[in-house]
Amino acid sequence: MTELKELPEVAKSLPYPCKKCDGEKYHRVLVHKTSTSAQIECEHCGSKKTLKIGVKKKVTRKKRAPKNEAPEMWAALNEKVGTEKIKLYKMSDQFEENQALDHPTFGTGYVTKALPKQIEVVFPEVIKILVHNY
Ligand SMILES: [Zn+2]
Repeated sequence: MTELKELPEVAKSLPYPCKKCDGEKYHRVLVHKTSTSAQIECEHCGSKKTLKIGVKKKVTRKKRAPKNEAPEMWAALNEKVGTEKIKLYKMSDQFEENQALDHPTFGTGYVTKALPKQIEVVFPEVIKILVHNY
């Protein structure tokens, strides 16, 4: 939608989304209702609606992304475990908790959970579930 700072003059046309027409259509300004709203009419289907300007849009809150815990966890494990015994990650290998591994895409990671077929690995930027014992 076009952002308007001032009300368009009466009888002017402006593109505006029309629900009936299912798209942006030219709407003619019929009358200013208040200093920040005007009645407009779709030139295509004749439906009337109110155009408002300068009204702060309700900020639709983006779902807050869960806090990325990876960097802190990774740093702690990096300090504790180090990379001396780092193993190249292979699906066919078995990994234990606290094992350092080297992943071709994600880099150095530390196993935080080891399940029979899966491991949870914390990388500097992301926590991943990987397969092992494959
Ligand atoms: Zn319309």
